[in-house]
Amino acid sequence: MRDSESLAKGDEARGSQQSSGPQGLADVRRLNLQRVLAEIRDRRAVTRKDLVAATALNRVTVLDLVAELHGRHLISEHPSVSTGRSGRPAMTLELDDDHLAVAALEINVDRIRILCSTLQLRVVHEEAIDMVGEGLSPDHVLELAAMCVNRAHRALLRKGLLLKRVCIGLPAFIDHRNGTVLTSLSFGWNGVPAVDILQRSVDADLEFTLDRLANLAIREERARAGLMPDSGIVLLYGDMGVGGAFQKGGVILRGDSGSGAEFGHISVDPGGPHCYCGNRGCLEMYVGIRPLAAALGIVDDQEGGVMQRVLDLLESGDRAVAAAAREQAPWLMMALRTLQTVFDPRALILGGHLGSLARLMGSALEEGVSEVENGRATELRISITGANAVLAGGVRAARDDLLAAPWSA
Ligand SMILES: [Zn+2]
Repeated sequence: MRDSESLAKGDEARGSQQSSGPQGLADVRRLNLQRVLAEIRDRRAVTRKDLVAATALNRVTVLDLVAELHGRHLISEHPSVSTGRSGRPAMTLELDDDHLAVAALEINVDRIRILCSTLQLRVVHEEAIDMVGEGLSPDHVLELAAMCVNRAHRALLRKGLLLKRVCIGLPAFIDHRNGTVLTSLSFGWNGVPAVDILQRSVDADLEFTLDRLANLAIREERARAGLMPDSGIVLLYGDMGVGGAFQKGGVILRGDSGSGAEFGHISVDPGGPHCYCGNRGCLEMYVGIRPLAAALGIVDDQEGGVMQRVLDLLESGDRAVAAAAREQAPWLMMALRTLQTVFDPRALILGGHLGSLARLMGSALEEGVSEVENGRATELRISITGANAVLAGGVRAARDDLLAAPWSA
């Protein structure tokens, strides 16, 4: 123990020597660019004077950082509303809304959807490609996805906007670090380097990131719920299966190997059937679209076809569907109690198609809610954003990734 302590101290000492060199200065400038940009994103109509006060940086430094962010088309400035007093109005700064764009691409078994926005999250382009009846091989699906991105890139150029980053959401176990789909039950894929393939197939020089649907949706759910950044949120996201996400303090929990927060694979029935993840009796075998389809006897050659038929029935409020949904409530509650115990979050949110399912559970859900909340600080919420949270959260993720590295914009 003592040896490792002294080793750690030695590393720290070497680190501080390095940080006083030119590399250290460059790092400090990058950190300051991030800080100034985050202030401009998070506050409305901020002036240079406000930035000096908020960052405790000196005025000359702030002016210089603002000039760089302006030159990179990340921010723009406008005269503030006149106070009626004479003299020059102060110029207020905000995220640029006229030059750069980001996109979210949802690749799912029933359709591919793209949503593009400016840095102020103003929607500037969207398109959906129906996938039901299409083959689901990685080559075919990713070719359609690349076509979608290329079309968006060209459409944005015609509007004077340059697409910079695309955040992809896919229902799968993924390795976020290298953009690989590890396993997707819905697509039947294993080990597909989706980001590499897309990067090679698009005409433009774009940065791609790959994430699970729930990890994108949770960003939108937080914004909609108006929760503070330091409040923990657990999301159970219903797609064909059940995805999960946990976010607190701006950090998404991914675990050491990238499969953290896959709450659909909490074992709710240890004696239940084997799941493809290696566990037994996983939550998504009892709750969500797939078990609902099985209970209603809905079969189709394709998962996309099954999903569409179940969603149509959910919309119709069919009595048999409502009864099958209520059957799922005890399993859902078991997982929610576990999640409440592990995370003690401010909010447990049922999102995606789980929101529609939960609404059909009626009293079976209400009894469970009082059990989960039971005087604790946790609140159970049913999402009103549903499946649209993936794209809306995806553009937020792409925008924030771009703002986190302003020097490369
Ligand atoms: Zn499982």
